[in-house]
Amino acid sequence: MKNLNCDILIVGAGVAGLCAAIASARNKLDTILIEKESEIGYKIKGECIQKKSPIFEKIFGKGLPKEVTLNELTGRRIYSPSAKKYMEMEHSEPLVAIDYRLFIVEIFKELSKTNCRVLLNTEFLKTIKENEKVVGATCIKDNKEFNIKTKFIIAADGNESKIGNELNIKQSEIYYALKFNFENLNVPNPRHIELHLITNPPGAMWMFPKGPSSGETGITVWTHDLPDNFDILELWRKKSIENDRMRGIIEKAKSYYSSRDFLNFGGPIKNIFGNGVAFVGDAGGHVGAIGAAGIISCMSTGFDVAEFVANALLTEGEITEGMVEEFTRKYKKSQIQKFLKKEQSAGKMLRNVLFKSFKTEEVIDENWEKLETMVASQASDF
Ligand SMILES: Cc1cc2nc3c(=O)[nH]c(=O)nc-3n(C[C@H](O)[C@H](O)[C@H](O)COP(=O)(O)OP(=O)(O)OC[C@H]3O[C@@H](n4cnc5c(N)ncnc54)[C@H](O)[C@@H]3O)c2cc1C
Repeated sequence: MKNLNCDILIVGAGVAGLCAAIASARNKLDTILIEKESEIGYKIKGECIQKKSPIFEKIFGKGLPKEVTLNELTGRRIYSPSAKKYMEMEHSEPLVAIDYRLFIVEIFKELSKTNCRVLLNTEFLKTIKENEKVVGATCIKDNKEFNIKTKFIIAADGNESKIGNELNIKQSEIYYALKFNFENLNVPNPRHIELHLITNPPGAMWMFPKGPSSGETGITVWTHDLPDNFDILELWRKKSIENDRMRGIIEKAKSYYSSRDFLNFGGPIKNIFGNGVAFVGDAGGHVGAIGAAGIISCMSTGFDVAEFVANALLTEGEITEGMVEEFTRKYKKSQIQKFLKKEQSAGKMLRNVLFKSFKTEEVIDENWEKLETMVASQASDF
């Protein structure tokens, strides 16, 4: 592979990177998108999103494409760890279950209308710096290293971000998660999401129906205080069997997809801009900290940051500190940033109350009505 040059290099082709690439390439900047896997959308991520969002207009020029929508979800039930208590809420805005891979294809169709170069099987290894400024990346493809020189890097390489690790961008609350897509699920109410809180370790199981007999389930833990031999699959087996309702839901189900992953519950990182680089999507913590809902916020930050970088390069030929400050000031007031900040404080507070103050199943049940009021006042839809 020869060394390459471009205006904007985007690392990672999840929803954030794809939307960043669309914004950059639509502005006619020479854009390269690299993805370490052999396929875009290789790992299936979130599949439950709000039906309406301004980002769909920006990407598709219309609403969410009908082809990707599987089911409407009008409300949710949250069960206490003992499963003796639950609270039920209707969503103020309808949510939908989507097929992630079809969704990625629809976004990719938009990218394919541009002149963006897409390199699969291409892994970012390290940044190239000149006078402390990031001016490129060393990458590897087919076991051969090569350099991509660029005016700016957008790091959309997910919550294990190699660029973030290299540049010491700290994300504190990233927790283990395990996801299954099932057929033949015994879905109690196809319109309702279910969340089942767990203790020892603290966390939650979820079930998102995609129809009367299909859906996504999973488990996450909200602690790093775990034994060395911790295995999330073992935990899922134990907790889903102990819980009568979840056991009934999955008893006859067959999974056609499963993945071990990580979920962000910490909220956005303090400063998404470094010298010559910006962090978007999971890499920037752009995920709702209550329910780790990140598809829409990752798409939005990817698109908006790339649009800002592209405009700055087109008008001034560079991105100055002043421009970054002005963008950041305005961006803090955007709907997405307000949503992320609100979720950050509410998520921390709710988990502290549940698992540090109340702790045990009994005390959580005793205080369930109080929690219900708290959740109703804090929760936002995805
Ligand atoms: C199990 C699970 C369930 C979820 N449920 C929901 C939900 O229901 N609703 C919702 O809104 N959100 C949900 N989320 C969160 C949401 O899916 C994520 O926040 C969002 O998809 C992150 O997108 P991203 O593009 O930032 O990162 P990713 O999708 O992780 O994309 C990062 C990309 O970068 C690539 N990459 C990484 N390192 C390198 C490298 N060194 N070189 C090149 N490429 C690299 C990766 O291969 C990957 O393709 C869920 C997440 C998980 C894991």
